[in-house]
Amino acid sequence: MLALTGGNLIDGTGSAPLTNATVLVNDLGHIESVGRPESIKLPPGCKLVDITGHTVLPGLIDCHDHLMSFGYDLLGRWGRSEPRTTRVMRVTKVMEETLLTGYTAIRDCGWLDTGYKQAVEQGLIPGPRLQVATSPLSPTQGTQDRSSPSGHHQPTPLDPNLPRGIADGVADVRAMVREVVRVGADFIKFFNTGFGRETQSGTTRSYDLEEIKALVDEAHVHGKKVACHAIGGPGLRDAIAAGVDSIEHGCLLGSEPDLLKMMADKNIYLVPTLTVFTFHAAQGNPHAKAEAKDFRLKHIDTVQKALSAGVTVVAGTDAGAWEHGNSARELELLVQAGMTPMQALVAATGWAAGCLGMDDQIGTIETGKLADLIVVDGDPLADIALLQDKERIRLVMKEGQVYLDRVSG
Ligand SMILES: [Zn+2]
Repeated sequence: MLALTGGNLIDGTGSAPLTNATVLVNDLGHIESVGRPESIKLPPGCKLVDITGHTVLPGLIDCHDHLMSFGYDLLGRWGRSEPRTTRVMRVTKVMEETLLTGYTAIRDCGWLDTGYKQAVEQGLIPGPRLQVATSPLSPTQGTQDRSSPSGHHQPTPLDPNLPRGIADGVADVRAMVREVVRVGADFIKFFNTGFGRETQSGTTRSYDLEEIKALVDEAHVHGKKVACHAIGGPGLRDAIAAGVDSIEHGCLLGSEPDLLKMMADKNIYLVPTLTVFTFHAAQGNPHAKAEAKDFRLKHIDTVQKALSAGVTVVAGTDAGAWEHGNSARELELLVQAGMTPMQALVAATGWAAGCLGMDDQIGTIETGKLADLIVVDGDPLADIALLQDKERIRLVMKEGQVYLDRVSG
């Protein structure tokens, strides 16, 4: 057994912090008990780790990542920018680095195959707990379609563990969901609009309502949640009407209050991914930057109205569409968008675990949960940005196993 003693506890439920808390972790990697020292009986031989002056909180969860991606140029998407082995090594390095920044769970929203998840589970490589979408779905010409604008298709053979992801019509959509489930997807991701409002592609609609209903039904039959990429417009509306489980981005929801109400009523999560839009707002020509600034104001308005409407807003970075390694920036951006620091922490822990459907196992520091937790130097409620300082991440534990320890010395 191992006990963390003397630290401030933020347990991920949103409850007020507990000072001088003890967290007892058993040899099965679960939290045995948590509370004031006088309420916890430490077993003989228990290893003590004094974390006085530090904060212990649940391991952070990124609800929207792309570990396999390093930018979205066509050659990269075709897998031709570097040999596959180099890419595998690069991804495993990012996985370890991301774990050491305090992220113990990641929901990968596209193009990571199940081999990475198996490698982590089998202890071959250190990395966060993974949920993978494998291939996202879209119709022909949608965002999953890797053909060039001139109609050239991907020249290399497809990896059989990453289905093509392109399906048109109700029957083929159902078949593609089954194919993605067959290769081990933990959830189904689909694109129902394009990306940016500036090209209007963000307000189009990829699948029609019947196709989306079939997709959601087939996924749910297999016990898989559905994550839908949608920026705004009819593609967003139809996805919510069809009962997806989360909206990814959803930037223009603020102008459609009835949709926010539907999301709250149906318990549909919102993953705004502020980091990726903030990154791209700093790119491009002056006109694009000005438009991105206007778009960002709408995005922030959406987060605030979603919170007011009772929608559960969770932290997701869209890393891979920008870079990797600073995922906790999302928490700072959520605070800038109007969340309290405590809400931002819960958005990346307790609520995030709900988005993954794993809130019975991770996301909070409570008796019986898996011991996924981190210790940080200082108080993230006073300074949410400290989570981005790698030196201040002092301990990272996943299922009781310590991957980083700067506390014991
Ligand atoms: Zn994404």
